[in-house]
Amino acid sequence: MLSGKEYLKSIRDGRRVYIGKELVTDITNHPAFVKGAQSVAMIYDQKSAPENRDVMVSEEDGEEFSTYFLKPKTRDDLEKRYETHRRIAAWTHGFMGRSPDNFPSYLTGLATQPEVFNELRGGTGDFLEAYYLKARRDDLYMSHAVTNPQGSRRAGEEIQAAGAVSPTLRVVSEDDDGVTINGLKMIGTASIYCHETWVGNLQPVPPGNEAETITCAVPLNYDGVSIWSRKSYEKMANTEFDMPLSARYDETDAAILFENVKVPWERVFLHNNVAMTREIYFKTPGHSLANHQANIRFAEKLRLIVAIARKLTESNKAGNIPAVKSTLGNLAAQLATLDGMVRGQIFDCEDMPGGYVTINKRFMYAALHWCTNNYSTICDVVRELMGGGPIQMPADSSVMEDPDLNKKFETYWSLPNQSAKDRMKLFRLAWDILGTEFAGRHMLYEKFYAGPGFIMDLYSYHHARWDELDVIVDDLMAGYDL
Ligand SMILES: Cc1cc2nc3c(=O)[nH]c(=O)nc-3n(C[C@H](O)[C@H](O)[C@H](O)COP(=O)(O)OP(=O)(O)OC[C@H]3O[C@@H](n4cnc5c(N)ncnc54)[C@H](O)[C@@H]3O)c2cc1C
Repeated sequence: MLSGKEYLKSIRDGRRVYIGKELVTDITNHPAFVKGAQSVAMIYDQKSAPENRDVMVSEEDGEEFSTYFLKPKTRDDLEKRYETHRRIAAWTHGFMGRSPDNFPSYLTGLATQPEVFNELRGGTGDFLEAYYLKARRDDLYMSHAVTNPQGSRRAGEEIQAAGAVSPTLRVVSEDDDGVTINGLKMIGTASIYCHETWVGNLQPVPPGNEAETITCAVPLNYDGVSIWSRKSYEKMANTEFDMPLSARYDETDAAILFENVKVPWERVFLHNNVAMTREIYFKTPGHSLANHQANIRFAEKLRLIVAIARKLTESNKAGNIPAVKSTLGNLAAQLATLDGMVRGQIFDCEDMPGGYVTINKRFMYAALHWCTNNYSTICDVVRELMGGGPIQMPADSSVMEDPDLNKKFETYWSLPNQSAKDRMKLFRLAWDILGTEFAGRHMLYEKFYAGPGFIMDLYSYHHARWDELDVIVDDLMAGYDL
């Protein structure tokens, strides 16, 4: 298992990251990325710290590995995975969505059913199993880019009519050694910090576009791979005091460009198969285990938001007003609702082929639906509880560096039981959750990371027990007549 120091060394591997026109080759030493990298290193260190090992380290045939690679066979295994995800999420308060336990949960779920892949193309399931064991052994940090460039999906025919080439990642040639891929893949959240990215499709690929179905794992320092970062919020954070979350937990998002990248067959898990390119995640426990992690991570974020809400009402002396208590009670009920939805997933877990289990999918998709649909509203409620507080504070913490200004600040901005500095610290933290550009990105993240809203509805539609529901109506109507 990697230590934080070994992790940081391992990503100084010649990868090419663009931020604007600047090419960054060592992200561990760059003001846009250094603290984010250190947060990931912190997770690596913490998960094998003595107080966490019991839960977060598992063992098979004498080999130790991170518990998020554990293939669950019992409810206790699911409990162990749950507590692993919960601790990792708590260390970053749920602000690093694609933390090192996210994609490995997909991979672990996929690897419980290698036969699904062997049926598609002989030997592919064996490659998948070998890749899972390698990722587990090397303690790999992986992301997944399974979305195609916006617009290109629906503009396929227009692109062809114009004689142009679609920007979407596709196989352009293949030989005995492997495939060559070219094009863009979206959105590699955290890929800047990862060892490897998984590319594939969680959106349908239309028949005729078989070359786009390619599903493979690519090290991010391969020749021809470049990672195009969005704006860095970490770089915008002047101090940790002023923007504590932007400064530490900007997990980054990026488009990943593959320019004629050669990928060997042992890293290719699906090719030329429109029907199965999405299905592999649903036929296996891949999608359910990974999005269970996302539910747990969201719950830790919500815990911080509800805690902040109460502190804000204490600071602005509104906490004892009955209407404000009612709003806080409403928030507390929402947190308890989600906690219950997550716990129920384990309690009512489901059997899978091969003697494995996964969490209750119907409950998981309901929780995913709930999180996607409620985050913005919850943030809006807490923003309203802040009143104009954040705007009443000076521009930034430099005001406290000047003794004269600091004295005035403490005299006029403090409360009997709260210094001006402490009030400003609280409002800065709250604003980084609710108002900064980092906060805005999180609004978008919670809406879209698992796909658009209408897909959330469809997941629950497909997992509803319509047969059982029909019987209720049929039985009721059978009990009376004209
Ligand atoms: C911060 C962030 C992080 C992300 N991280 C990852 C990641 O790690 N890996 C990854 O692969 N992807 C990631 N994504 C991508 C995410 O999966 C997509 O943004 C999402 O699937 C929506 O696709 P799109 O952005 O192409 O929007 P579009 O598909 O272009 O949709 C635009 C709008 O039109 C609506 N719409 C489109 N079609 C329909 C329809 N048929 N019915 C009703 N409404 C429709 C959508 O709901 C949406 O509101 C991330 C996205 C964000 C914002």
